[in-house]
Amino acid sequence: MLSKPGPVRGRFAPSPTGPLHFGSLIAALGSFLEARAQRGEWRVRIDDIDAPRTVPGAADAILRTLEHCGLFWDGEVWYQSQRTERYQAVLEQLSRTEQVYPCTCTRRELAGYPRGADGSPLYPGHCRAGPRQPGRPYAFRLRVTNTQLTFLDAIQGAHHQSLEREAGDFVIRRADGLFTYQLAVVVDDADQGMTEVIRGSDLLDSTPRQLYLQALLGLPALRYGHLPIAVDESGGKLSKQTHAPPLDDRNLGPALWKALSFLGQQPPSGLLREPPTAILGWALVHWRLERVPVVRAQIWTR
Ligand code: GLU
Ligand code: ZN
Repeated sequence: MLSKPGPVRGRFAPSPTGPLHFGSLIAALGSFLEARAQRGEWRVRIDDIDAPRTVPGAADAILRTLEHCGLFWDGEVWYQSQRTERYQAVLEQLSRTEQVYPCTCTRRELAGYPRGADGSPLYPGHCRAGPRQPGRPYAFRLRVTNTQLTFLDAIQGAHHQSLEREAGDFVIRRADGLFTYQLAVVVDDADQGMTEVIRGSDLLDSTPRQLYLQALLGLPALRYGHLPIAVDESGGKLSKQTHAPPLDDRNLGPALWKALSFLGQQPPSGLLREPPTAILGWALVHWRLERVPVVRAQIWTR
C-alpha cells in the first residue's frame, strides 16, 4: 500500500535587519501561498543568529506587517538567537564524523582566492591537516566531498553544483563563536518539521550545502523552490542596504497585488484597491506555483 504523504509545512525566515520591504514580501507571500494552497502549515522564524546585524525592533515590525497583510502564521515564532545550545549539540554530533576541523584563517588571508557560487572565497584547505596558526581563535569548517550535487528545484528546475569546486569547505561556527546560517537553517528546518522551503533565488546556491548537511546528519531532504528576487534597474537586489522603501502598514493592498503580479499570478486589476483580505482570498484560490517566472531575478519598478 502506498503511504499517504504527510502534511505540508512551509516557512518564512526573515533576518531582522530592518522592516519588511517589497523584496522580502515576495518570499513571505510565495511561501505562504504555496503552503496554504496545499492545506499545509506556514511558520515564521526570525533568523537573528547574526546578533551584530540584528536591528532592535525589526523583528516585531516584520511580524506586525505580516499580520496587517493577513499573513497569519501557525504556532509560535521561533528565534534562532535562543537555539545556541541545540546548534552546539549538532556541532558535536558533526565533529564525530571527522568532517569538521578547526580553521584559523582570517577573512583577509582568504580574500585573494577564487570565489565560489555565492561570491565568497573558496577555501583553499590550509587547515585541513591541522590549524595553520595554533593559538589563534578558530572557526569550525565542514569538509565537503568531491561530489556533484543535483536537486530538482520546484521553480527553477534541475540545479547542479560541485560542492568542492563551487562551495568549498564551509564555516559552521565562526571564530567569534557565532553559528552560521548554513548550520542553523538546516537544524531549524528539521527541528520544526518543515517539508518545503520556498524562498528567494539568492539562496539557490546555498541549497546544495544544506542538502549535504542534511545527509550528514541523517535528516530528510526538503522540497525547495526558489522565487525570482526583485532587483532595481542596475541589477542590485532590493534590500535595506539599497534603501528599499519599507511597506506602509496602513496601505498594504497595492504591495500585495504587485507581489502577486511579480510572481506571475495575474491578479485582476479591480483587486488593486481592495484590502489585503480580499487580495489574499483571491490569491489562495488562484495560486499556481507553475506560473512563477522561471528566472533568478526580475526588475521591480515602483
Ligand atoms: N534569513 C534569510 C534571508 O532573509 C532567509 C533564510 C532562508 O529562507 O533560508 O535572506
Ligand atoms: Zn584555515
